[in-house]
Amino acid sequence: MIAGVGFRNFVEVPKEAIKEAIQVTVPCAICGSTSHSVQHIFPEEHFDRHFFDTHSWDANLGLELKLVKCSDCELIYQSPRFNEKFLDWLYPEEVIPDMLTARHFSADNKYAYIAGEIKKYVSKKATGVIVDIGTRYGALPRMLEKNGFKSFGIEMSSKCVSVAKKAGVTQIEQGKVEDIPMLMMLRGEDRIKAVVMTDLIEHLLTPLEDLKILAEYQLPGDKLFIKTMDIDSLGYRLFRGDWYYIHGQHTFYFNALCY
Ligand SMILES: [Zn+2]
Repeated sequence: MIAGVGFRNFVEVPKEAIKEAIQVTVPCAICGSTSHSVQHIFPEEHFDRHFFDTHSWDANLGLELKLVKCSDCELIYQSPRFNEKFLDWLYPEEVIPDMLTARHFSADNKYAYIAGEIKKYVSKKATGVIVDIGTRYGALPRMLEKNGFKSFGIEMSSKCVSVAKKAGVTQIEQGKVEDIPMLMMLRGEDRIKAVVMTDLIEHLLTPLEDLKILAEYQLPGDKLFIKTMDIDSLGYRLFRGDWYYIHGQHTFYFNALCY
């Protein structure tokens, strides 16, 4: 159900869904520590959609959002966090267009920079495929194929995949990282010479496990390109709790030292 006149991308979360959305306290995904300090607490209705241009994932989720910092390795993450059952509300399909336009695939889109890096560091001749995780509409793999790289993307949202296929994108599969073994087999591939994650790793629930699955398909010298927001950035230092990137979809907040 779309609600709220004049507010973009807003999907009202029904009260029953909120009741079923168990928030689970989780240990640090990097070092396993359960000891942490609280960085930010956003009470229910913190972002009032009558005053801000909000999205369904950062406003009126009907639940408190809490960010903590691991006392041992300093990773900042959401805890407690939403359970899998709530993901449909964090990623509502209603905000995805029914039809894509040239704008979704234009060369100056957000993938242009990463495509340039790939051209610089990945050999077209090397065996293997480039896999774009969380590919949305497959704009990056489509661009890479046009540049002579074998590539495909995987996307969790079946609606994104179906509108992309309708627009003629063939380099896209529906799934999550755990589906990689099945999708690699399906496409007749056995080596990933480059993994790409653009604005994705901060959304994952089990990033280390996911990287291990991907590593099974990589050899020494193969590449991993990760683009994510930086919790040590000037933006965060200035705006703190009002920083644009803090919202319910983001489970992890990395900085340049998290490696
Ligand atoms: Zn830790």
